[in-house]
Amino acid sequence: MTLPTTADVILIGGGPAGAAAAWALEQAAPGLRLVLLERGPQLASGASLASLENYRTCWAAPALHRLMSRSREIFLNGDQYFGENGRAALGLKQQGYLWLAFTDRGANRLKAEVEHHHQTGLSHVEYLETDEIGARHPWLKDRVRAAKYDPQAGWLDSNALVYQLARATRSTTFVYGVEEVRLIREGDRITGVQTSQGSIHAPAVVIAAGAGSMAVARTAGVELPLVAHPRQSFTTAWRHPGFTEDSPCVISAPPFPHVRPEAQSGAVFGWEYRMKTVNTEDVGTSVLASADTFKDPRFPSVTLALMARQFGYQPGEGFADPRYLRGLWHRAGYYVYRTNAYRTLPDGTRQPYESQRAIIDKHPDIAGLFLSIAHVGHGIMSAPAGGEILASRVLGQPLPDESFTAFDYHAPYVEYDAGGLSGE
Ligand SMILES: Cc1cc2nc3c(=O)[nH]c(=O)nc-3n(C[C@H](O)[C@H](O)[C@H](O)COP(=O)(O)OP(=O)(O)OC[C@H]3O[C@@H](n4cnc5c(N)ncnc54)[C@H](O)[C@@H]3O)c2cc1C
Repeated sequence: MTLPTTADVILIGGGPAGAAAAWALEQAAPGLRLVLLERGPQLASGASLASLENYRTCWAAPALHRLMSRSREIFLNGDQYFGENGRAALGLKQQGYLWLAFTDRGANRLKAEVEHHHQTGLSHVEYLETDEIGARHPWLKDRVRAAKYDPQAGWLDSNALVYQLARATRSTTFVYGVEEVRLIREGDRITGVQTSQGSIHAPAVVIAAGAGSMAVARTAGVELPLVAHPRQSFTTAWRHPGFTEDSPCVISAPPFPHVRPEAQSGAVFGWEYRMKTVNTEDVGTSVLASADTFKDPRFPSVTLALMARQFGYQPGEGFADPRYLRGLWHRAGYYVYRTNAYRTLPDGTRQPYESQRAIIDKHPDIAGLFLSIAHVGHGIMSAPAGGEILASRVLGQPLPDESFTAFDYHAPYVEYDAGGLSGE
């Protein structure tokens, strides 16, 4: 297709972050001329392909739970935000998240987490003892000591979400198969992009290219504070009896392997473990290889063995049933983290930590450049609300929620921001 030569905003990347940014810009300023450039043959060609597609409101850091609560509100009111059948198209399954403890120590940890959630306004999060867990989920009876339950959690069809966001964005020109996007820089300002299909000039350019974001920024000599870590998931065609279709997503004890039912008879598993075979720091600084190259063939069997051990299943039983390993679909994608988060210790030294917070902001030094990056392991559940933050930054409007300054480029620390699935 012929590229327009000018636009009001150019978006680079058509995953959840880019599509949501286009959607929110259109909502806030209808008629804005938007061009979204996607490298792949279709939208959502990045990390979301490997994702578990889960969402939850239960986050320890208030900025994160407010972000996810806003997104969930948009999912639940999809008809209002995306148009007719907008909600139905998302295929929402609101079956909850259940974090499990197998020991008294684990139970105490979950209890303390629930108290914290209640203090920060998440009164819907429940602490469950053995009997209650068994009554609700018989397959967990006598296996689990305690649990934390978020009933406002579930999963959806992430591809449908991205396409709903796009569908609701009438004034966006979507261009696919765009290789080699280069930023056009004039002094300390980005004025457009150059592609193999031509150049486009615009006063605002948004990088929302997931793990491809570092490479895009470097075309203008800009280093983004990002690192990408490969993460894996797999879907099985089979699920053991008892682990019913209406079960919640279950997050097992540290190191947090997790699983949820998928379709009628399958399950989808993940585990945010660090793969010893990968030098993840290199991944962050070199041109990124396809995440698939980091797939560890042992991952499915190791995850199942870990879960079987934690649940106390004997060989052939539950997660130790070999039928789980038949005909599975193994995937990998990148979690992209910000690298500029740190705590300041009492002696004044800076201690870096792995932050769960995306960067959704204007670039602090380069005019005309905006970022929706570092969405870690939750860029689907945060997408619509993240898009709204990005839109407010591009349009120079106030943030939708004052806690969202946590997603500023320079926001080194917020409380309770470390930890992923642990919710800590
Ligand atoms: C194993 C795994 C499990 C996950 N589970 C969940 C979950 O349960 N819930 C959840 O919310 N999130 C989950 N995530 C995280 C989620 O997938 C990401 O946070 C989210 O996809 C990030 O969105 P994004 O748009 O920033 O990047 P991506 O989804 O990676 O999309 C980036 C897009 O930009 C395009 N692109 C890249 N480079 C260029 C370029 N140079 N020019 C043009 N286009 C470009 C890509 O083709 C892609 O379409 C998971 C991720 C993984 C890997």
